[in-house]
Amino acid sequence: MKECRTTRYGGRVVQCPKCGLIKTVYNACNQRGCPICYKRNQKLWEHRVLESLLNTNHFHLVFSIPQVFTAVWLRHKKEFMNAFFECVKRAIATISGDYGVTPGCVAVFQSHGRGMAYKPHIHCALTAGGLDENGKWVPLGSIAYTRLAKVVQEYLIKELLRKEIDTRELPEQHEINNREWTVYSTYYQDSAEKIIGYLSYTANGVVINLNQDIEEDLVKGTMRFTENHAGKQVSTELLKTTFVERYCNHIPPPHTVTVRYYGLYSNQYSSKLEELQKEFPIDIDYEDEELVDHCPECHTPMDIIKTLEPYEVVMSYEDFCNHDPPENMKKLTVIGPAFF
Ligand SMILES: [Zn+2]
Ligand SMILES: [Zn+2]
Repeated sequence: MKECRTTRYGGRVVQCPKCGLIKTVYNACNQRGCPICYKRNQKLWEHRVLESLLNTNHFHLVFSIPQVFTAVWLRHKKEFMNAFFECVKRAIATISGDYGVTPGCVAVFQSHGRGMAYKPHIHCALTAGGLDENGKWVPLGSIAYTRLAKVVQEYLIKELLRKEIDTRELPEQHEINNREWTVYSTYYQDSAEKIIGYLSYTANGVVINLNQDIEEDLVKGTMRFTENHAGKQVSTELLKTTFVERYCNHIPPPHTVTVRYYGLYSNQYSSKLEELQKEFPIDIDYEDEELVDHCPECHTPMDIIKTLEPYEVVMSYEDFCNHDPPENMKKLTVIGPAFF
């Protein structure tokens, strides 16, 4: 990440076809958790997820578990996440049994709470309805959330043991505060766009982004940042080492799948889903401005005139300049390295 938008990942030399301005743009690192290139990844992720959903009413469910599990997550991030997902999958499956319909569900794992605190939980966008056994769409006005929480409570430790995770440090089941096994639910009319839009901010492991209010206190050696939490601006101050430690811990380990699809949204139902998508078509705005570099002077989309290999440095633009208004050569701009 430290080398994002430096020569490390190569880049391109672009020129404005209108005013002739030339500049070098270095490539993004595309690493999980990178606060510089998250913006474009965020949009891509949002589009990709929305494309696979139905344009219908959804519940936004949040599965929370007792705080005592945090230590287990920190030590076995991948296995813990998989176990937690298994439980949520099981919980969602009970809906089919209870209501006789198969809903669609996209589940997203998140590890952070307010102030980058460690708080593993799972968000779900769940269709407020599903297909019955005759293939007919049946809407659901509400579901029994407490029952879903109970399923997770019943199976989490079992799943961890199945994955050979040492749970001996956990208190006995009866010592764990039962009220900490919760499912919060919010109903969204028409589509899951708002839920997915909200989740996209942190989907790639960027729990603090550079557009946020971040302040460094050189005297105290702390970082202070402000987040929007339940409609309020909340500020957190952390020692720099804690800040970095927490930030890094929230980046999902390589090759872990933090987004899962269940029921109608799973692969098993892909042809059925395609049919349903005609009934509930989704409308996504695909404008992706960041794919094209715009001229900083006249905002015209710029042409790529040279592609740069990793570590390749451009000493002079003269050799491959397509236009020759010399006055523009004064305006040469080199973008990057940015921020770091
Ligand atoms: Zn221009
Ligand atoms: Zn990056």
